[in-house]
Amino acid sequence: METTKLYQGLLSEIMHSHNFDTVICSTGAEAVEISQDHSFNLICIAYHLPDLSGEILCKHLRSNPATKNSRIILFTGEDNPEVLKGALRAGATDIYNKNNIAQFQTYLQRYANLINSKLIGNALLIEDSPAQQKWLKLQLEFIGLEVDAFFTAEQALDAFLENPYDIIITDMVLSGNMSGLNLVRSVRREASEKGLTPIFAITAYDEISRRIELFQLGINDYMTKPINPEEMLFRIARLIKENQLFNELSRERKVLQEMAMLDPLTQLYNRIALNQLLPKSLADCKRKKIPVSLVMMDLDFFKRINDEHGHDQGDKVLMETGNWLRNAFRKGDLVFRWGGEEFVIFLSKCTLAEAKILMEKQRERFSKRQMADHSITASFGISSYEDFDTDISHETLFKQADTALYKAKQGGRNCVVCAD
Ligand code: GH3
Ligand code: MG
Ligand code: MG
Ligand code: MG
Repeated sequence: METTKLYQGLLSEIMHSHNFDTVICSTGAEAVEISQDHSFNLICIAYHLPDLSGEILCKHLRSNPATKNSRIILFTGEDNPEVLKGALRAGATDIYNKNNIAQFQTYLQRYANLINSKLIGNALLIEDSPAQQKWLKLQLEFIGLEVDAFFTAEQALDAFLENPYDIIITDMVLSGNMSGLNLVRSVRREASEKGLTPIFAITAYDEISRRIELFQLGINDYMTKPINPEEMLFRIARLIKENQLFNELSRERKVLQEMAMLDPLTQLYNRIALNQLLPKSLADCKRKKIPVSLVMMDLDFFKRINDEHGHDQGDKVLMETGNWLRNAFRKGDLVFRWGGEEFVIFLSKCTLAEAKILMEKQRERFSKRQMADHSITASFGISSYEDFDTDISHETLFKQADTALYKAKQGGRNCVVCAD
């Protein structure tokens, strides 16, 4: 509603480029007239109109049911702070300088993104009033959510345990034996990632103590009836987006952590993984009284391969040794590249005597296999934890296997030596 036709044309062109339909009025009276029975997402007003001021029009639109929740943008060349304050008090959502149209374009771009980006997600809705439930479901579907709606908390809890949800929206006062409070409690007691599903509570009472209780139980947000749909959808969309972002980051973080635990050359666990997993696995076995053995393996005269055939051939031998090791042991066993041409194998449910027999067999198999077309052997040292009356640290277990390996090297290589 700008007096100059040129400016009107410019604004409506920008709006059309973001797929907004526009209605143009040239006076305040026309705007008042049309807003009687039309609601608009966005209303742009020039501060100076031929018949009344933008501020007065703003006030009128805010008191008119059809436009009271619209976004109202005022365009002005004024930079007098008092004038701007007055416009905001009159109900303008924001004020833009009419000479800086680029700023408004950015605003419009973001607004268009917001209303065009439908959420992708599943909502669990619990509301015992059929009319309310139907209305809420429609609202949620409007922003793109798939909604499973229930009348009781019991039914909803069953669905929650069965399916993944991006948000739970629950009325607090429910018919049936289980209240909304109990539903919130049950959800938050879930140990898995499910237990962190955002919860949006709808309450009939607006008492501070009740609200605090709800937050203490773990709800993320709440609104009191009667619900304003726009506000509710903004709040719910924010909860869902934050939660989805959080889950995405957690997944990425997990992938990065896993990558940091792998040796790039052999794809076996590396030393970082060893430092994390060895103490943990040993503690597990101690608690469950399961015997374990630790094997240190070192390739014999590996330096010669590098010296005689080049470093690349050495790398290939290490890679193939890694592949061989990965397939040579049981699923629950852990294989690490400790460094250079040294490997560590954690054998769970394996006594020293069993480990000796197993490793003797593996040593022989390995010595008969070519690794990247090279014949190579390895030496092995084994230590064990099987006397549950004594304790042992992972460092000691490691040291004992290393000492045994040293003896294997001294004893002529290509052999298995057990710790005393
Ligand atoms: P021993 O039987 O006493 O173990 O003799 P060795 O030659 O295997 O042992 P030594 O410790 O003297 O040499 C190990 C060699 O492994 C030296 C090092 O250059 C080589 N090495 C360590 N890491 C890598 C690697 O990632 N790639 C290659 N190609 N060589 C490596
Ligand atoms: Mg060595
Ligand atoms: Mg070696
Ligand atoms: Mg070595």
